[in-house]
Amino acid sequence: MAQNERPQALTMPNYSLQHLCGHSIEENLSETRVDDIRGLVAGVLCPICQTARQSQISSDLSWPLPPLAGTEKQVAWAQRLRAEVLSGILNAKANAKHDELFSLVLNDLHQDVLKQSTAKWWIDNRKMSVMDLVRDYYLEQRQF
Ligand SMILES: [Zn+2]
Repeated sequence: MAQNERPQALTMPNYSLQHLCGHSIEENLSETRVDDIRGLVAGVLCPICQTARQSQISSDLSWPLPPLAGTEKQVAWAQRLRAEVLSGILNAKANAKHDELFSLVLNDLHQDVLKQSTAKWWIDNRKMSVMDLVRDYYLEQRQF
């Protein structure tokens, strides 16, 4: 939003808000909203880090992925599903940088799901979120 669309900003106090990545922004905010906004900002990366992460994710995703077995229609669908899951895992990995154990689990899961080479598996598991996959993977590992 352009600065001149909210003239009241001039009368509001200036706050320094810290993003998840540690970078700060300066915002003019009304006192009643500052806690909410501070919480929102603290949960996301700054725009620069967000862009950097997005391009990291697209380059990770453009690595040659194993071909999927299935009918042409199944494969096309499964490839889209796989891209979504992988991008979810890569996102979670970027968020978990400071959590060593969770990073390791995500790394293993990432390698593990790449071994799923049938379109059917991706279609059957399309309702699973990344956290569901993490939980299943973790429970499976603990059985050994
Ligand atoms: Zn940043």
